[in-house]
Amino acid sequence: MFDYLVVGAGLAGSVMAERLAKTGKKILLVDQRNHVGGNTYDYYDEAGILVHKYGPHIFHTNSREVFEYLSQFTEWRVYEHKVLGSVDGQFVPIPINLNTINTLYGLNLSSDQVEQFLKERAETIVPVRTSADVVLSRVGKELYEKFFKNYTKKQWDMDPSELDASVTARVPIRTNKDDRYFTDTYQVMPLHGYTAMFNKMLAHENIKIMLNTDYKEILDMIPFRNIIYTGPVDSYFDYCYGKLPYRSIEFKHETVNKPVFQPTGTVNYPNEQAFTRITEFKYLTGQQHDKTSVVYEFPRAEGDPYYPIPTAENAEIYRKYQLLAATTPNVYFTGRLATYKYYNMDQVVAQSLTLFKKIQQQVLNAETQ
Ligand code: FAD
Ligand code: UDP
Repeated sequence: MFDYLVVGAGLAGSVMAERLAKTGKKILLVDQRNHVGGNTYDYYDEAGILVHKYGPHIFHTNSREVFEYLSQFTEWRVYEHKVLGSVDGQFVPIPINLNTINTLYGLNLSSDQVEQFLKERAETIVPVRTSADVVLSRVGKELYEKFFKNYTKKQWDMDPSELDASVTARVPIRTNKDDRYFTDTYQVMPLHGYTAMFNKMLAHENIKIMLNTDYKEILDMIPFRNIIYTGPVDSYFDYCYGKLPYRSIEFKHETVNKPVFQPTGTVNYPNEQAFTRITEFKYLTGQQHDKTSVVYEFPRAEGDPYYPIPTAENAEIYRKYQLLAATTPNVYFTGRLATYKYYNMDQVVAQSLTLFKKIQQQVLNAETQ
């Protein structure tokens, strides 16, 4: 008899498995894929270059707790991600900053002057509700159209005005020269990769791992007391309130016979191309190699569910599933798919650590009753 059946060996499920196993619980961790790590899974490709199967994963967090928790399972490499945008035939920094404006318009403005430049173009929009509002109210129509409108249309197959403000708000607008994609306190990559980190996390005698298995196949075969579920929430409830839309991506991996492919870790292509961005892995991992491997991202409607789609309509459908989830005994939902949240890796780890503490508290309460 297992204490917990954990569905999904990504960050959400693996953190739960690791935490619960350490308290003596017996865990069966099941994933339908042939590997652990979920979407962070990395491996050495044919050329011997460490690549991320499901697109680039750059770790960043402001949470000391999350950083220290994961530090038990990996050493780190300091890495600050930089992104350039291919706009009007030039490579310019993204997020938009002082250098972006000066390069794009052939100017030599100071920070204060760029602030003024943007102010003159910004639209007055109150309240700021959508992803279009966020950008238009800060930089105006022209920069919105060059950097955000078409990229967002490609990525989500929606106009930014249909998406929640939180989507484009992920990318700040700056008037200084800071060209880092993230400004978090901790910006690091697992020194030997994500998969190595997961292998260490899950190496516990109380954790049994079953791959290539949809949990539904084994529900009636293996006894367990509780479920931790990290797959898509609508699927768990057999789509009783309808399908929750998720956006997918087709990843095209390529190895190139030269040491460097592009000038920075990621180059975004907001406008002309069918793909959104190209990432060159050696920047992220620090690996030295004569060849280099890159991945192109082509957004798709069909395929593995990668991105919950933050619209008011979808939030409404999710609320119904959330209520159902909250009243389903002995089943706990955590992670990006199970709680339908556009979460980064650190947020998923934090969510599972919080759930673990809640379960611990429930056990304590039950014992004292
Ligand atoms: P997942 O990693 O999706 O794990 C869920 C697992 O459940 C999967 O392995 C799946 O196979 C399994 N599963 C589902 N249904 C079943 C079933 N019925 N039976 C058995 N198993 C099942 N975050 C960052 O912080 N930085 C980044 O740079 C970053 N880049 C990203 C780039 C892309 C293209 C994507 C898609 C995401 C990115 N993220 C990034 C987000 C990050 O991937 C997630 O926050 C995190 O991996 C979510 O972990 P999870 O465990 O919730 O979900
Ligand atoms: N975005 C954009 N242009 C860019 C970068 C981002 O329009 O050059 C918008 C787009 O809608 C994207 C969102 O901002 O989906 C969030 O970007 P982020 O890089 O955080 O996306 P992720 O890495 O999660 O795919």
